[in-house]
Amino acid sequence: DMTQKKKLIAGNWKMNGSLQANAALLQALRDGLGVPGCGVAVAVPAPYLAQVQALVAGSEIALAAQDVSQHERGAFTGEVSVSMLRDFGARYALVGHSERRQYHGETDAVVAAKAQRALSGGVTPIVCVGETLAEREAGQTETVVKRQLAAVIHAVGHCVSEIVVAYEPVWAIGTGRTATPEQAQQVHAVLRAQLAAATESADRVLILYGGSMNAANAAELLAQPDIDGGLVGGASLKAADFLKIIAAA
Ligand code: PGA
Repeated sequence: DMTQKKKLIAGNWKMNGSLQANAALLQALRDGLGVPGCGVAVAVPAPYLAQVQALVAGSEIALAAQDVSQHERGAFTGEVSVSMLRDFGARYALVGHSERRQYHGETDAVVAAKAQRALSGGVTPIVCVGETLAEREAGQTETVVKRQLAAVIHAVGHCVSEIVVAYEPVWAIGTGRTATPEQAQQVHAVLRAQLAAATESADRVLILYGGSMNAANAAELLAQPDIDGGLVGGASLKAADFLKIIAAA
């Protein structure tokens, strides 16, 4: 199959970790990884980029950031620029995670600007979209995710073929309540169609699922035709669980 592409399993550590815990986790991952059949990445808190860059050196594990500034440099206290991420070898940056949208007021426009900045700085944005429970119950799921992705497509133009998308229903994040494979696939297909209207290379774009993905449910989710990987929070903090998800891909 010529369109066969490698899946991607990305761990999102969120605001967890320590020098000691990171070293132990990465050692266990490296020991158990072998030659993975999929791409693997870990999105780490910014202060640990240098540490984790060294810990993943020479391995199949790529480094990711959890956010990136929409600005290039200057008077933006607390922000981290894409060139800083590049200095530490980051290959990916999460953009528009629902916790950023919810707790830090990131709008679709801000998320789109961040995705654009990441791309132009040579870091692949993993653009997160997803509806809240209230939006799903109101029948707004498609409208919401399409609006979120449309802002990014508008900002990056034909470069949209170079982004990674992550569908993360907000009600499934950290709740243990995973979307069913059918629910997830349905939304992934909508996103794929939206990408196809913007680029001839939509089949190449990785669309990850996130939200309580774990060792037990990963295989079924990853078997869906438009689910190209996972964005894994809680289960990425335990080496054995994360390795099982990687093996399922
Ligand atoms: P979870 O988080 O796997 O803990 O639900 C996923 C995410 O927020 O990326």
